[in-house]
Amino acid sequence: MIYLDNAATTKPNQEVIDAMLPYLTESFGNPSASYGLGVESKKAVKIARQIIAKKINANEDEIYFTSGATESNNWIINSLRYVNPNKKHIITSKIEHKSILETIKRLEERGYAITYLNVNNEGKINITELREAIREDTAFISIMHINNEIGSMQDINEIGKIAKENNIIFHTDATQGYGKENIDVKKSNISCMTVSGHKLFTPKGIGFLYCSKNLKLQKGFYGGSQEYGLRAGTENVAGIVALGKATELSEKFHIKDVGNCNLTQYMVKRIQNEISDTYLNGINFNDIKNIVNICIKGVSNSALVLHMDMIGICISTGSACSQGSLEPSYVLKAIGLSDEDANSSIRISLSYENTIEEINFFVDKLKEIVNKLRNK
Ligand code: PMP
Repeated sequence: MIYLDNAATTKPNQEVIDAMLPYLTESFGNPSASYGLGVESKKAVKIARQIIAKKINANEDEIYFTSGATESNNWIINSLRYVNPNKKHIITSKIEHKSILETIKRLEERGYAITYLNVNNEGKINITELREAIREDTAFISIMHINNEIGSMQDINEIGKIAKENNIIFHTDATQGYGKENIDVKKSNISCMTVSGHKLFTPKGIGFLYCSKNLKLQKGFYGGSQEYGLRAGTENVAGIVALGKATELSEKFHIKDVGNCNLTQYMVKRIQNEISDTYLNGINFNDIKNIVNICIKGVSNSALVLHMDMIGICISTGSACSQGSLEPSYVLKAIGLSDEDANSSIRISLSYENTIEEINFFVDKLKEIVNKLRNK
């Protein structure tokens, strides 16, 4: 199998699994228990929290473990409306993940005014448009770090600076960038941030929310006193340990370089040189890291994904969270693609494990299949 869908999820790293195994076997204690077995678990959670806090330059008590990015996004967006209850305006972008857009939509139904910023054909918001969107009653800005469908990265330093100048809360969904790009929440003036572990080589079901002490975070779940009393429920100790370990190892998780570019760029060059009528969607070539989205004119993306699957290659038509929907991707529409081009676009997302041999094999097969589908 050749796995090229790392934006959907990643294969858990062996060192990460090894680190979490004891907490699934002999060290299974509840961190709230006062005897030795519980204390062992509590210590493991604390160490992971410290590693993560250090990584993003936050304080330990600003990290709240959750089940993943969907929970973190729901929690923070629903919490932020209590910080300045009289402010009823939110700024976000048209290409946020659904867990942001759907949560914000609920606030729109409660009377909030929402500005959905456009993105250009390189998948970036316009900073002037952001400045102009700010109002007296803007409660918060929520702009993602790296987009999960097209791989474009926003300038979180600049957004944070503008938010700070205007005394506005800045939330970023850093699910696709955490551990791959350096993020310093203090330097970038990020008030709150969302992360999911399974995009960084942990198993699914673990993530965190960073929330600055300057904000009053509302309770996510009611019940016990876990997570500083704000997110009740027995901790996912093994998952937390995994996220700590993945964070520690993150320097190892960069995709390979080949000559003067990275492996994804090498793949894009080959595709563009060897398959006619192919277009890179929503990102500048020089900015490409591990996620790309490519339009292959005249080819159905779902047919292509199916043919690839039959030969053991995993790619996708877009966001895993939108699979099953017949609608063309709203992210591709936001960067200006027609329905037809959106439905001819595939997402390919690499990891540190992918090799040049795998990529060469994939591009060779892509050529063959595209030829076949175009000549049908
Ligand atoms: N935000 C972004 C940017 C994502 O890519 C994803 C996962 N596709 C999520 C949020 C949701 O993450 P999870 O499914 O782990 O809750």
